[in-house]
Amino acid sequence: MGVLVLLGPPGSGKGTTAVGLAANSDFVHFSTGDVLRKAMRDGTEMGRAISPFMDAGRLVPDELVMQIVVQRLQQCGSSEKVVLDGFPRTCRQAEKLDEHLQADGEKVKGVFLLEAEQDVLVRRLLGRLTCLNCRSIFHLAYLPAIQADVCDRCGEKLYQRDDDVEATIQERIQVYRKETEPLVAYYQERGVLVNVPATGEMGETVHKILRTVETA
Ligand code: AMP
Repeated sequence: MGVLVLLGPPGSGKGTTAVGLAANSDFVHFSTGDVLRKAMRDGTEMGRAISPFMDAGRLVPDELVMQIVVQRLQQCGSSEKVVLDGFPRTCRQAEKLDEHLQADGEKVKGVFLLEAEQDVLVRRLLGRLTCLNCRSIFHLAYLPAIQADVCDRCGEKLYQRDDDVEATIQERIQVYRKETEPLVAYYQERGVLVNVPATGEMGETVHKILRTVETA
């Protein structure tokens, strides 16, 4: 199994990059945020348990997230390649992921750190529109869909995430700096961290990641 991790603050382009990677390679995109939002939409027991955390822009408890991730990784065949978007977000999650992979003689192959200035992150999130079906990401100002609210790629309706509002965005960025940023050192120590400026074209970011993976 090949596992890549996309790391970076909210708005750094993890989702966009993961969709691009999946479209240009045999990596499968797995976003914990997508799974958690679906549980909320479906009104499952888990959805009800996590909604106070998600609504406030805080992290969902590690145990719940680990259940989702382990379940997904257990479905992977030995040749499957997965790009993790939004996971791990705490050192505890990273350690649990390592333990899970080590049990199968595997490890995280590469961690790509996407970074951008705070004001860029906020502007990107405030205008972000997402396709519920294919998860393509648009922006009201920077990347508008041809037809308002309709995905150019698959024709489904675009929606604005409930947590993409100013106060929750600020909270999510703070949570990232406190809980998730320590993972930069965690993965640097393991020699798998690669910095990718998240200010360029999505295509460039995707190709840089694929070139790094191919030459590793
Ligand atoms: P995302 O779609 O990655 O921006 O995640 C949206 C929200 O889902 C986050 O603000 C958290 O509330 C929750 N979430 C997603 N992934 C994780 C994770 N790995 N650990 C804890 N909470 C998460």
